[in-house]
Amino acid sequence: MKTIIVPTDFSETANYALEVAVQLSRKHNSKLIVLHLLEIPNHVMDEISSTNDVVNPNTPNEPPAALFYMKLAQKNFEKTRSLDFMNGVEFEEAIQNHLDFKEIGTTAQKHQANLIVMGSHGATGIKEFFVGSNTEKVVRHSQIPVMVIKNRMQHFIPTSFAFATDLDVASALALQEAKNFTAQIN
Ligand code: ATP
Ligand code: MN
Repeated sequence: MKTIIVPTDFSETANYALEVAVQLSRKHNSKLIVLHLLEIPNHVMDEISSTNDVVNPNTPNEPPAALFYMKLAQKNFEKTRSLDFMNGVEFEEAIQNHLDFKEIGTTAQKHQANLIVMGSHGATGIKEFFVGSNTEKVVRHSQIPVMVIKNRMQHFIPTSFAFATDLDVASALALQEAKNFTAQIN
């Protein structure tokens, strides 16, 4: 387990996911990447030049509206660093300027990540939904395993897995992947 990505909107549930990822990364000596996708409204997005992947606060010709979201993210990252369970934890901060979760696969590939850990819910949604729309998108589109965390788990020690299958031969590949994954996290 070399690299773990945690997409976060800095919500309570996303922090539950982060806490689990921290435990996994400690155990397996993995690199931890905390990724935030700026939730910039479309009308603001239209003004931003589409050439840059990351909004740079030092770029003078960037519109101030985008800067606001960037600053907000940086403030939230500061809060994240000061969470009790983040004490002494090294992680890489990544900020992407558009809220396109289908692209998370590309991001994961770019960082050669082995696992995505994210919350079942976020800051904006209705708690009654089974999972939030962004998590659903990632689960649908990701080529690497996605772990969805619902509750705080201060002692995350997975000892067994359930593999759900319809026994179709097409599931063999998934079974192989599941086997690989269990080996990776012992
Ligand atoms: P909604 O579908 O209305 O947004 P929600 O906010 O409850 O509902 P999601 O947005 O899917 O649900 O949030 C679930 C998880 O997705 C969060 O716990 C977090 O891990 C991740 N996430 C949500 N928004 C972002 C974001 N802007 N950047 C990175 N990760 C995010
Ligand atoms: Mn949300």
